Order: sequence, then C-alpha cells, then structure tokens
Amino acid sequence: MGSVIFTRECRQCGREKPIEEFRVSTMKGARRRECKECQKKGWAKYRKKHRLDWDHVQRRRLSQQQYADRNREARRVYARHYQREYRKKHKAFLKMLDEKSQ
Ligand SMILES: [Zn+2]
Repeated sequence: MGSVIFTRECRQCGREKPIEEFRVSTMKGARRRECKECQKKGWAKYRKKHRLDWDHVQRRRLSQQQYADRNREARRVYARHYQREYRKKHKAFLKMLDEKSQ
C-alpha cells in the first residue's frame, strides 16, 4: 500500500506537480490551475506592467508619512491627555481598593 499523491498539470508550464503546489483560490474555493511557481512569475509580470501604479502607491505612502508627521504633535497632546485621564481613573480605583481593604 503506497500513499496516493494527487497531482495536477500546470496550465502555465505544463509540468505535473503535487496538488500542494497549487494554491486554493479564496474566491472560488477551488485549486488554481497554475502552480505556485508560475503564479509568482505572473505576479512579477503584473508588477512590472503596473510599475507606474506602484510609483503612485509609493508617492501616496510618502504623503501619508508627511501627514503622520504633521499629526504627530496633535497625537502626542492627545496621548498626554489620555494618560492623565487614565491616571486619574486609576488613582480613584486604587483609592477605592484602599477604602475597601480598611
Ligand atoms: Zn507552472
């Protein structure tokens, strides 16, 4: 008795590979027709084709970074305020515990 290995022929490279080499598509719940290797190659091709879009993504990321810098001070003020409020509540809670234990 040998273990059965399921294989599938890749649509891209035509090679027969074990079923694990084919990702399950989250959209359809079925295994893809291309092996992981070919999928990877496909993504590389896709990225090359959409490099301009990629540049756009990078630019947007940069502007987001600038936005974050501008908001850092505001966030620090907010964090300080929040901490103060937290400490106030915490103190009240500790006081309550103290009163209970006495
Ligand atoms: Zn393949």
